[in-house]
Amino acid sequence: MAVASGAEPLGSGLNGSAAEGPQAGAKGKVLVVAGTHGNECNAPWLLDAWARLPGRLNSSGLALCSLIGNPDALAQSRRYLDRDLNRSFQPALLADPARQEREVVRARSLLAHHAPEAADPCLVVIDLHSTTAAMGNCLVVYGRRPADLALAAALQQKLGLPIYLHEGDPHQSGYLAEAWPCGLVIEVGPVPQGVLTAAVVLQTAMALEATLALLAGARQGRLPQPTHLVVHRHRQSLDLPRHGNGSPAAVIHPLRQHRDWQPLRAGDPLFQATDGGTIAYSPPAGLENQLVWPVFINEAAYGEKGIALSLTSRERWPVQPSWTEALQALTSGLLQA
Ligand SMILES: [Zn+2]
Repeated sequence: MAVASGAEPLGSGLNGSAAEGPQAGAKGKVLVVAGTHGNECNAPWLLDAWARLPGRLNSSGLALCSLIGNPDALAQSRRYLDRDLNRSFQPALLADPARQEREVVRARSLLAHHAPEAADPCLVVIDLHSTTAAMGNCLVVYGRRPADLALAAALQQKLGLPIYLHEGDPHQSGYLAEAWPCGLVIEVGPVPQGVLTAAVVLQTAMALEATLALLAGARQGRLPQPTHLVVHRHRQSLDLPRHGNGSPAAVIHPLRQHRDWQPLRAGDPLFQATDGGTIAYSPPAGLENQLVWPVFINEAAYGEKGIALSLTSRERWPVQPSWTEALQALTSGLLQA
């Protein structure tokens, strides 16, 4: 399995629209991306290990295209060089020839080479990330595409993973996984940025191999589905309290640190002020009288985005037959290794 390590030639922009989905009967691989963020080194190390010992990867017989999302940033152990690659897959941004930030150029290149209608077509993308937050092993799904939901439901049933459903946030968009007809993020934490950890590598490998096994089953018309899918639906994000000059006026309260996926009620300790005093959670507008479930608490990379944590609603959705049909139709085009 080849792992692309260098930046590819410049692409010529969006080669059609992957979001519209491939034509019926389209054939393609599963795209496995590591190092979309260059300071998340565990998944890139895993891909490199598999490239050296290909027999160690159980691809379930599917043809894979594995690559490093942002190799130049990975070489410098930086999240990104000019802008966050995982916020750069915005159609308007990619179509603007005046935008030449390195991550925009890279996003164009990835699509030009690996979109469903490109020379090395891929139909599904699995984007491997790690986080400094205590998220455990979880999935991030963007929006409500039926094929994504079917895959997430099957994975939740198989591995019991919690799911963060990200939608309705105009300040955070342009995710890589959204740029292919089906895709999701496997997120593992907590792990510091730039630190290799055996447990994180193992969790990443297990979740990816389980995903590939489910895709291979779906390709053959066998996709086990639970009756319900539990999602933590994004509602809004909160920043730290800040002084007038923008510096933090409080930290995450020690009783909330590392408590991702655990309910937060009005009056619960949320922040700790400079004098040691507790700042309690007060529901923002729109979330009054609602139980919320924080995620990505104190994620290191989100400080610059003004996000100390994100609030979600825990919801239980009936699994729809149309989700399964969408995923099986798409995966019927997956190529075998
Ligand atoms: Zn990441």
